[in-house]
Amino acid sequence: MQCIDSVLLDLPEGVVTKDQDIISSYVTDFRRQYVGATAALLRPRNTAEVQAIIRACAKHKVGLVPQGGNTSYCTAATPSADGQELLVSLERMNRLRELDAENLSVTAEAGMILSDLQRAAADVGLMLPLALGSQQSCRIGGNLSTNAGGINVVRYGMTRDLVLGLEAVLPDGSLFSELNPLRKNNSGYDVKQLFIGAEGTLGVVTGVSLKLVRRPRQTITAFLAVRDIVSLATILDAAQTQSGEAITSFEYISGVSLNLLLGAKGHLRHPLEQESEHYVILEAATASPVLNLEECMSALLAELYESALISDGTIAASEQQRADLWHLRENIPEAEVHHGGSVKHDIAVRTSRLAAFIESACQLVRKYRSDAILSVYGHVGDGNVHFNIVPPDGTDKAIFKRSVEQDISPEIYRLAFEMGGTFSAEYGIGRVKLDLLQRYGAKGKVDLMKRIKTAIDPHGLLNPGKVVP
Ligand SMILES: Cc1cc2nc3c(=O)[nH]c(=O)nc-3n(C[C@H](O)[C@H](O)[C@H](O)COP(=O)(O)OP(=O)(O)OC[C@H]3O[C@@H](n4cnc5c(N)ncnc54)[C@H](O)[C@@H]3O)c2cc1C
Repeated sequence: MQCIDSVLLDLPEGVVTKDQDIISSYVTDFRRQYVGATAALLRPRNTAEVQAIIRACAKHKVGLVPQGGNTSYCTAATPSADGQELLVSLERMNRLRELDAENLSVTAEAGMILSDLQRAAADVGLMLPLALGSQQSCRIGGNLSTNAGGINVVRYGMTRDLVLGLEAVLPDGSLFSELNPLRKNNSGYDVKQLFIGAEGTLGVVTGVSLKLVRRPRQTITAFLAVRDIVSLATILDAAQTQSGEAITSFEYISGVSLNLLLGAKGHLRHPLEQESEHYVILEAATASPVLNLEECMSALLAELYESALISDGTIAASEQQRADLWHLRENIPEAEVHHGGSVKHDIAVRTSRLAAFIESACQLVRKYRSDAILSVYGHVGDGNVHFNIVPPDGTDKAIFKRSVEQDISPEIYRLAFEMGGTFSAEYGIGRVKLDLLQRYGAKGKVDLMKRIKTAIDPHGLLNPGKVVP
């Protein structure tokens, strides 16, 4: 504690908050599964203040945890419960530094909220393709640090694919600054890549330059009842071919997940006349003024009906209807919370193996708990499925979840591994998946990660206890 007091004495005025009423929401993770503690919350206003904070922490060997919007699903942004780490929120560093419409790029401070950045791009007729359910509260530095995925990965890739430049303060307080939005830059190691997906363990990201794209003139969003999960790959392939690779999103929703949502939120309506076990939200977009996307999609749907791959479907006729369809997809996690929460598995396998994975995983769960509610949905266009297990009514939720974590989750992860997949498609490692990284990480990876961590952060000051086992 003495060390922490010494750090606080060295910091610029107006940066430190010790009020525990304010601090409490920052030290509780989004899913309320972990409550950390800290003597002080630090909220720098600029990069120089971040440097001052890190220099002081380095001098007194005090660990610190960077935080963006605190929406991590892996308790990656919460300090440990022993109160020995300081928490650095980037929320005050939320300014747009440059929007270069001519070169289709934007440069912003790391604390800018994702939806604010999306709006800024839209205001000049452009689009930031990164979009995820937490976009109203997650911050771009957090998105970079988790290499976030989201609903547009099919077309635009993960956050990493959108990053042109980056600025970060290193664990000794020095600055790495390559905030140059160049499309090509092979001048030595591409070191900015190290910070993307590092979950704050190698440096505090203070600024980012990102690619923008032209804002679509036409967007078609369809909600389809799909025959079975085996058909998903065929439907995606047909959609990409028919639209000339214009598919931006291909999201699966199981009938169970949709019913869970409609049960939890009585005001929401089923978008189709008949229920199905499987649905897809498919979105295509183009900036082209000449391509007739509507025609392409109508031809696609006709072909899918004819081959009985889909049994029903609707196309959003207005921006409101489009928003309503996406509202269904985005609110499934909340419906799970309403039902007592879920044990989440963020799995990715090759898209061609996804149906087999889902089927085997469902059978596996049924073997242990035939009454478990399987809320299965996700970004299946990228081979990523959220395979979530929700407690049935009338059970003790905490006991149920503990038994799933103990008996079923390891089997699901083993299945994913045996099918050449991963235990963490987009949520990262944080504090909760260290064991899985040890067990299923690629050969030599953990060792190499430890060497990189030691080289950059020899005293282990940045986000201690996360990502690197
Ligand atoms: C409803 C909901 C939907 C979601 N959907 C998706 C989805 O579709 N795809 C997906 O990938 N994720 C999703 N997530 C998870 C989460 O929103 C993302 O991981 C997001 O990118 C985290 O951003 P954040 O600003 O909240 O980061 P935080 O939670 O604050 O931090 C995440 C990690 O990054 C580090 N960090 C944060 N800022 C910095 C910085 N400036 N410098 C260095 N390190 C930093 C933290 O230390 C921590 O390790 C979802 C979460 C919710 C709640």
